[in-house]
Amino acid sequence: MYDPLTDTEIGTNLAYPSSYWVDHTATAIQTAPLQHDLSSDIVVIGAGYTGLSCAYQLAKRFKREVTVLEANQAGWGCSGRNAGFVLRGSGRLGLAQLTQRFGLDSARLFHQEYGAAIAQVKHMIADGNIACDSQPAGYLKVAHNTSAAAELPAQAAFLQRQFGYQAEYLSESQLKNDYMHNARAYAAVKFPDCFGVNPLALAQGYATMAQQSGVQLYTGSPLLSWQRSADGSFVLQTPQASVRCKQLVLATNGYTPKGLYPAFNRACLPVLSSIIVTQPLTPEQLEQSGLQHTQLVMDTRALKYYYRKLPDNRILFGGRSAVYGKDAEKAVYPARLLSALKACFPMLAELRVEYHWSGWVAVSYDDLPRVCEAEPGLFYAGGYCGSGLSFSTQAGVRLAELAMGIELPPLPIYQSRLVPFPLPAFRRLGQQGYYQWGRFKDRFL
Ligand SMILES: Cc1cc2nc3c(=O)[nH]c(=O)nc-3n(C[C@H](O)[C@H](O)[C@H](O)COP(=O)(O)OP(=O)(O)OC[C@H]3O[C@@H](n4cnc5c(N)ncnc54)[C@H](O)[C@@H]3O)c2cc1C
Repeated sequence: MYDPLTDTEIGTNLAYPSSYWVDHTATAIQTAPLQHDLSSDIVVIGAGYTGLSCAYQLAKRFKREVTVLEANQAGWGCSGRNAGFVLRGSGRLGLAQLTQRFGLDSARLFHQEYGAAIAQVKHMIADGNIACDSQPAGYLKVAHNTSAAAELPAQAAFLQRQFGYQAEYLSESQLKNDYMHNARAYAAVKFPDCFGVNPLALAQGYATMAQQSGVQLYTGSPLLSWQRSADGSFVLQTPQASVRCKQLVLATNGYTPKGLYPAFNRACLPVLSSIIVTQPLTPEQLEQSGLQHTQLVMDTRALKYYYRKLPDNRILFGGRSAVYGKDAEKAVYPARLLSALKACFPMLAELRVEYHWSGWVAVSYDDLPRVCEAEPGLFYAGGYCGSGLSFSTQAGVRLAELAMGIELPPLPIYQSRLVPFPLPAFRRLGQQGYYQWGRFKDRFL
């Protein structure tokens, strides 16, 4: 599998990886590779949610001439293969940690922005009439042990008191009676406004909306290299043609090839996340597991598991995976996810896996994403740390505003660039160390 930390080329016109989403989505967008030289006001690299949302805003709201260059297919990266959790937040810091780091006023601004991100996703779905199987709202943050459970009432109260957010604490018995018979769940906090979607259908919808607004979208057209001209404009090289532009937006995030933009490469660690999808649960299995609802679920482990019931009663179950791209397809990873699922739901012991795939999320050094003008005329957004479905859509809005010279809200993530990792060559070693520590913590602490 392509590994952005070591590979300098991502590939050209690769098909979508096989996944449950590909088998359950009509992918009918008309696109082709760029075959002739052209000029464009602004070029966006990468047709995931970030790039498509940005391009859509630039064309629709600001009436600019926009070209999107995508190496493979629209939504080929994370955007077409994620778990479809539309969550409130990005990066790895919750509101309590944001309050500690930046103070309550800034944390309230984060909360507002993350709420705006969910609203923007809903707005896009409604405006584009996107059929992406939105499920009824609700996300459960589930305590995986008793000490995590003991912290949840205070967390829910903090969200209600300081942010006016209707987080709901659920005791172990409420959780078991109303939501699931999970042997590893000790309490939960319910976040009322998060919901599940088909992520590939959403990406396809964004691509269609961008095209209908006048965006020129070229798939199968990787940016291989780029240079600055004397006048500050950019010259971009793709396999068959070159493009000139005044402004350049890099929306390649966790899939950014090594060397494409070294300042970004040094500040982002691509980390694999993997998903399994089981066969559909029978009515008896649904009854026994209590999984009658479609709430999104994520636990409190250091190495988190996340899961949801899909519209056809299968379980999507995900978590961390291999460290290196070359190991991503090894059978041990889906087997580990399945055994974690069965440890939660012993009554599902007979369940089989029907799909497995992985993707690269972009982890930032300080656990926060960024949207910025990295140097004159060159913009990027990234570092969502695996929580980027809703935020990438909002990041696209903010990138477009930034490119149009509009001042962004005074949030730290909009006022600085991604922080380079110290000793970037040792990032994978650090990741392996973190996984060892995480396994120990999740088991014993
Ligand atoms: C398994 C998995 C599960 C996840 N689940 C969730 C979830 O449930 N909820 C959530 O909030 N987040 C989730 N995420 C993270 C979320 O999917 C991402 O944060 C989000 O999709 C990022 O969107 P993006 O547009 O920034 O990047 P991407 O969607 O990764 O898009 C980047 C694009 O850039 C293209 N590209 C790269 N290099 C070049 C080049 N040189 N030239 C042209 N194009 C190039 C790639 O082909 C790719 O299409 C998950 C991620 C994974 C992998």
